[in-house]
Order: sequence, then structure tokens, then C-alpha cells
Amino acid sequence: MSLVPHLAFLPQPSPVTQYDAVVVGAGPYGLSTAAHLIGRGLTVAVFGKTFEFWRNHMPKDMLLRSHWWATNLSDPGRQYGFERYFRESKYQKCFPVPLEAFIDYGLWFQKRAVPHVDETYVSSIQREGNHFVLTLEDGRTVQSAVVVMAIGVYYYAHWPEEFGHLPSGLASHSCQHNDLGRFKGQQVLVVGGGASGTDYAALLHEAGASVHVVTHRPILWFGPDRTNERTIRERILAPNNGIAPGWPSWILEHVPFFFNLFPQEAKDKYNSNYQSGATDWLREGIIGKATLHEGHRVVTMSVVEGKVDAVISDGAKVRVDHVIMATGYKVDIGKLTMIHPSLLGEIKTDMSIPLLNHRFESSVPGLYFVGLTSVRAFGPLYRFVVGCKAAARRVASSVTRKRVGRSPAAAAEDLLEIVMRRSARACFRALKNNSIYQRSL
Ligand SMILES: Cc1cc2nc3c(=O)[nH]c(=O)nc-3n(C[C@H](O)[C@H](O)[C@H](O)COP(=O)(O)OP(=O)(O)OC[C@H]3O[C@@H](n4cnc5c(N)ncnc54)[C@H](O)[C@@H]3O)c2cc1C
Repeated sequence: MSLVPHLAFLPQPSPVTQYDAVVVGAGPYGLSTAAHLIGRGLTVAVFGKTFEFWRNHMPKDMLLRSHWWATNLSDPGRQYGFERYFRESKYQKCFPVPLEAFIDYGLWFQKRAVPHVDETYVSSIQREGNHFVLTLEDGRTVQSAVVVMAIGVYYYAHWPEEFGHLPSGLASHSCQHNDLGRFKGQQVLVVGGGASGTDYAALLHEAGASVHVVTHRPILWFGPDRTNERTIRERILAPNNGIAPGWPSWILEHVPFFFNLFPQEAKDKYNSNYQSGATDWLREGIIGKATLHEGHRVVTMSVVEGKVDAVISDGAKVRVDHVIMATGYKVDIGKLTMIHPSLLGEIKTDMSIPLLNHRFESSVPGLYFVGLTSVRAFGPLYRFVVGCKAAARRVASSVTRKRVGRSPAAAAEDLLEIVMRRSARACFRALKNNSIYQRSL
């Protein structure tokens, strides 16, 4: 008998598959970007669970804040918009859109525009020479010249440091819940009164919980949606668009790279003024139903007899069964555990946010970030699904240029962008010297 083991029993290196581009994430941004990359004839792999955040990390009875026409995914042939889905499905066009309808639309879009999503997570991304090596959770390895990070918001869930001591059984982040029915008959404290805080407060009440909401500023209530009733004058003064009526939002949506032209200082100022508010239809579920501590903070929280005792800055003391942190999301690429430390060290960042060029590409050539990670560079449009189209098209065009070179049209586009960027900077310098602007800082 031979002492050399049969080849079949030797540990075999996992076969390596090579792609032009790998998209990490199968939410609205990942699917749209993949659809555009595929449309350009590239070999593309997509990893991630289709619409996972929407299916598992939002309350199942939630209603979308965006209109259906502002919640389209994007494909290069414009074949798979929400409108067509309404025609072909059991759903009617409506406002607000139920979460379930959007999830079903997302799954329908994926089957048609990006049929081969591999639901395996990526566990490690490294750079080797001029390509990336991605290791999947099941041990497979793939290589790609380009990686598009479309990992969404989940990793960035913000948990205030002062409440880090609360055990996970008694406190959770809002994104950890899909079914709020488990809180029936319980006392729940919601920290945060922005879009998520108010959504959760109303849905918790509906699920039979007694709810306290602590919010450091008064809740910003949006007026009733009058999109279809607005007069011509109103629409001229503040045009309809996918974010909220008004010229600034209109510009963000219709000139999607205008924001990116400005210096970072101006962009940070604009982003920091952006405030998340509560939709009008939640009033009924919150006012007079939840106990609101508006303009206040939680001073202390301590665990007593298996519950949480909270002291609020208005003097109230409440004992609750559970605390939900509706404290939003804060980009920090250090939290993206799938990026290997060696690659993480190569990505230039500021405040833990990757610096991106005007094509969503980081300082590591071929590594792109879309969605929430890109908001500091590209503006609030990219917080929402409505930003998918612009981001997907731009990333696909950038990746194609790298492979086949710049077309004359692309060269003209670049030239125009240089001129616009210089003009924007000049405008900003002039504005900075203006006394009104200085007083507003
Ligand atoms: C409560 C709430 C309500 C909202 N309502 C609206 C609304 O009404 N309208 C609107 O426009 N926007 C809304 N938003 C914003 C919206 O969630 C984002 O704009 C959108 O989900 C971003 O899409 P995305 O593709 O970037 O990420 P996500 O939808 O978060 O998708 C992330 C993807 O990454 C994948 N992934 C994660 N880790 C890995 C890994 N290691 N390997 C591979 N894949 C991975 C996941 O499986 C998933 O497929 C809301 C947000 C919240 C929190």
C-alpha cells in the first residue's frame, strides 16, 4: 500500500473565481449598482441577503416615508421600476407604501435585474497587488479588480457610550427589531425622537406596550403630505421631489453631484443641519398615547431587579422592561469587520469616514462605497433609496472607464465637472467672505 495519501483526500485549496466587479450587499444600492455593472457587460458577483435590512431590521408594520415614485431601484434599461411592479402585482399605487410592498418589489427586481445573488456573507476583503481577494463565510475565495461596498446602515448603528453598560436582554438598538409584538404589555423606553424613534414609539403602542420617548430636541413634525394637491404657485416656490418639497432638495435629486463639488467644510455644515423628523400620520399613534419627554435627556439608567430604572432630565423616574435606542446611525468604517485590517489601514479616512473621489471611489483604487457611507461626500440624497440611480450609474461608468478607457463623451463630462468644481469653490470662497454667511456659522 502506498504511503502517499490519495490526492482526493488531501486538503484542496478552494477554487478561486475571478470577476470584473464584486458587489458586497444586496439592498437597494447593491442591487442597483450590480444591475448597471451587468448592463455594461461586466462579470459581476453579488454577495449578501436580498433586502435583508428591510426584511429583518425594520418593524414589519412600518410604512415607508418616501413616495413609491421616490423609491425606485435602478436598472440600465429602466424596465423594472416600482410603477411596473404595481401593474404586475396585487399592490395598488398608494401613499404611504407598506413596507411589505417595497420588500416584494425588491425581490421582484432582484429576480429580473440581478438574477444571481449569492446570499453568502463576505467575511474578509484583502488587497493583493492590483486585485482584491474576498473570502466568503463558507470558505470560498473570489478575486476581483473592483469591490463595491453596499453594506448599508446596519453596521453603523449608533449606541450612546454612556449606556454601554446595559445588558443586551434589557436594551437593544432599533435595528434589532422586526416584530414588536414581543413587547405587548411591557413598559418600553425609546431613546430618540427622530424618524426611527417616532416610528417605533407608534408601532410599540399599537403592539400593546406602554411607551416613554425621551428626545433631546422637540419632535419635528412634518405637515400632512399634500404632494398631489399643491398649487402651481406652491410647486414653483418649493417643487416636489423625492426627499421633501423645496428647491435645495430638488437640486440634490436632479443635480445629484452638485453637492459633491463643494469643499468639505460647506458639506459638513449642510449635513449637520439635516434633521430627521416625524411623519404626520404618526401623530395619532403617539400624541396622548406615549409619554413624551421632549427636549430632555436620560441622565442615568441602572439595572434594578431585572428592569431598567431611568432618570430623565425633566425629573421623571421610570422603571421599564426594555430600552430601545433609536439613536440612529453613524458611519465608522472601523465597524466593517469584513475589511481586513491590512486593507482598512490603506483606506484614507477623516473622522473614520472614507474619503471618496467624485466617483464614489476610496483612496484604494477599485474600492467603492455607496449608500450611507457616501453621505458626507455626496449629501443627504444618498441616505435614501432615491439616490440609488445616480450612485449606480456613476460607479458603473467609473468601473467601465477603468477597463475600456474613456470615451469622448466621458472626457467631455470630466471637463465639465472640473469647470463646475472650480466654479463651486470660487462661489464658496466668495460666500465665505460675505458677512451674512459668517454670522450664520
Ligand atoms: C427605520 C428606517 C426606515 C427607513 N425608511 C426609508 C424610506 O421610507 N425611504 C427611503 O428611501 N429610505 C428609508 N430608509 C433608509 C434606507 O434604509 C436606506 O436608504 C437603504 O436601505 C440603503 O440601502 P443599501 O443598499 O445601502 O443597504 P441595505 O438595504 O441596508 O442593505 C445592506 C446589504 O448588505 C448585506 N451585507 C451586510 N453584511 C454583509 C457581508 N458581510 N457580506 C455580504 N453582504 C453583506 C446585507 O445582507 C444587505 O443585503 C429607512 C431607514 C431606516 C433605518
